[in-house]
Amino acid sequence: MKALVWEAARQMTLRDEREPEAAADEILIKVDYAGICGSELSGYLGHNALRVPPLIMGHEFAGEIVDLGSLVPTLRPDLTTGAAVTVNPLWYCGDCAACAAGTNQLCDNRRLLGAHRPGAFAEYICAPAKLALPLPEGLDTRTGALTEPAGCAVRIAELAGPVADADCLVIGAGPIGLLSLQMLRYKGAARVFIAELDEARLEMGAALGGIPLQPRAVDTVEAARAATDGQGVAVSVDAVGSAITREQCVAATKTSGTLILSGLHEESSAMPVAAMIRSEITAKGSYAYSPANFARALDLLGQGAIRLDPWIHEAPLGEGGQWFERLIEAPGAVSKVLLAPDS
Ligand SMILES: [Zn+2]
Ligand SMILES: [Zn+2]
Repeated sequence: MKALVWEAARQMTLRDEREPEAAADEILIKVDYAGICGSELSGYLGHNALRVPPLIMGHEFAGEIVDLGSLVPTLRPDLTTGAAVTVNPLWYCGDCAACAAGTNQLCDNRRLLGAHRPGAFAEYICAPAKLALPLPEGLDTRTGALTEPAGCAVRIAELAGPVADADCLVIGAGPIGLLSLQMLRYKGAARVFIAELDEARLEMGAALGGIPLQPRAVDTVEAARAATDGQGVAVSVDAVGSAITREQCVAATKTSGTLILSGLHEESSAMPVAAMIRSEITAKGSYAYSPANFARALDLLGQGAIRLDPWIHEAPLGEGGQWFERLIEAPGAVSKVLLAPDS
């Protein structure tokens, strides 16, 4: 089969690889679409200890089941060959305290498809049957491939708590920022401000109902405060993860407000902790999605409640390397790149 193999920093090659075989509790999937994730861009640059070359990346995908392991008909009778599925790429043990709490994304023994084992930038991928979700009737695999990033936004909105009639701020209009903005609006937020340096991405945020703040033109914090009678926003979401965006989120959040930290750009950075103390701001890390969040994301995509269209770009698998480069440099008006092994 054709597979896109990451071989070294900034080196991605289309190769012939052996087609995987489903173990007893796995399914074999023919990949229709696999999205490029921001975390994979840093992996591609070699900035990420989780990913070791040579590796087939890809954890945001959907496709068609083409083979079932011997135990699957008993374990998951709802999974049949020919069915369209997406897969929660975070394998979990089911036995640890985090798993018992339903926060399987925090499992002590978690393993990521496309990092710890071969991912979906290939014609075929094997995945544990327990992680597969059949796509709802009428939902195509192109949209189904967005379930993983949408799951991250569902988790962010869950941790944000009630936001009805409250003002919110999202910093960063990459896929997670754009989806979080929509989730906050879906939950009834009054206004969601969105700050983003890239003009094309900021326009997407505005088209999805956000109030755009261009940090080159206005001070993000001052603008958010001025628009809220000096109070600040009830919830801020940092979907970038740099020192400056983390600081801005604290400064733009009102007394007793909540800050959700999602972006992982910098491993550590200074935070204005005294301001957080004096205003009793609650900061929460948000990592990936629980299985329940993942299922909810699929449901919301099926309803058309959240989207990344019309800014999705489909590219053949062989152009994957070029798209990694372009996403790092200047993506332009592209919200998500989906690699399609068949085209
Ligand atoms: Zn991802
Ligand atoms: Zn576990």
